[in-house]
Amino acid sequence: MENILSTDNISKSYGPVKALNNLTFEVPKGAIFGILGPNGSGKTTTLSILLDVLKADSGHYSWFNNSTDKHYRKKIGTLLETPNFYHYLSAFDNLKITQAISSRGNKTEIDAVLETVRLQSRKNDKFSTYSLGMKQRLAIAAALLGNPDVLVLDEPTNGLDPVGIAEIRTLIIELGQQGKTIIMASHLLDEVEKVCTHFCILKQGNLLVNGPVKEILSNEDVIILRSSDLNQLKQVLLSIPGYTHLTEEKDFCQIHCSANAILPEDINAHCYNKGVILSHLEVKKKSLEEKFFELTGN
Ligand code: ATP
Repeated sequence: MENILSTDNISKSYGPVKALNNLTFEVPKGAIFGILGPNGSGKTTTLSILLDVLKADSGHYSWFNNSTDKHYRKKIGTLLETPNFYHYLSAFDNLKITQAISSRGNKTEIDAVLETVRLQSRKNDKFSTYSLGMKQRLAIAAALLGNPDVLVLDEPTNGLDPVGIAEIRTLIIELGQQGKTIIMASHLLDEVEKVCTHFCILKQGNLLVNGPVKEILSNEDVIILRSSDLNQLKQVLLSIPGYTHLTEEKDFCQIHCSANAILPEDINAHCYNKGVILSHLEVKKKSLEEKFFELTGN
C-alpha cells in the first residue's frame, strides 16, 4: 500500500528532555492514523516536526513518497491549535480571510467547506456566538480549504462536551470515507478506537506499538467469567491450558489468551466438569484501553 508519510528515526530534545527517541512509522494512504499517548509523550512535538514548525535533531521524514513537488504542503490541511478567528466576524467572513492569507482554494469553496462541517445554516452568525464544538468545526473547515489530501489534527476534540466530541468524530470518519488521509494526535483511547484505522502509541518519546487497529487488537482474546463462588471459579480456571494470564476482578474472573486459543465451549465444559456453573461467559477482543495500559504500564 502506498504511504502518505514515512518517518525514519526522528529524535528531538528540549535541553535535557528527550521528547522523541528514534521515531519510525508509516502512514498508509487513506488511513485515519491516531498518534496516541499520555500528556507529554511527544505527540505535539511529532506533528510540529512533520509540519516544519520545529526542526528534528536527527532523522528524516518524507511526505507523498519523497515528493519533489515543492508545493506539497498545500496538500496538507492542518489544525495544530485552536486558530485565532475574529470574534466579531461571521464564519463566512473569517474563512474569506483565512483563504486570502493562506492562498488555499478559492472563495467559491467556502460554502462547500461550511457545508461539510455542517455550519452552512450558521455561516452569517458571528464567531463569538458559536459553541466550542462549532468553533472547532470551523477550524476544521479552515483546514479543508484548498481540498487537501491530508489533514493533520492535534487533539481535535479537546475541551468539547460529549455532543461536540461525537460531531467531530462523525466528521472525521466522513472525511476518511471521502478518501482523505487523516493524522490526529489524541490522548483519548476511546476516540482512537472508534475513529482510527491505524495508530501508534508514544510513551516519553518512544514508539511502543504501531499498525492497523484491527490487527493489533484482534490478536488477543479476553474471556470474562462469572459464577456464584469467584474463588472456586479461579481455582478451576488455573488448570485450563493456553492462557497468558488470569485475573480476579471485583465480581468476575478474566482470562487473557491468544486469539481463539481457548474456545468458550471448552471453558464452559471444563468448569462444568469441575462442578462450577457459570452465570456469565463472554469472549471479547482486547480493547485499546487494555492494550494501552498494558504497554504503557500506567
Ligand atoms: P500533551 O498531550 O500534554 O499536549 P504531548 O504528547 O503533545 O503532550 P509534547 O508537547 O510534544 O507532548 O511534549 C513532549 C515533551 O517535551 C514533554 O516532556 C514536554 O514537557 C517537553 N516539551 C515540549 N515543548 C517544550 C519546550 N518548548 N521546551 C521544553 N520542553 C518542552
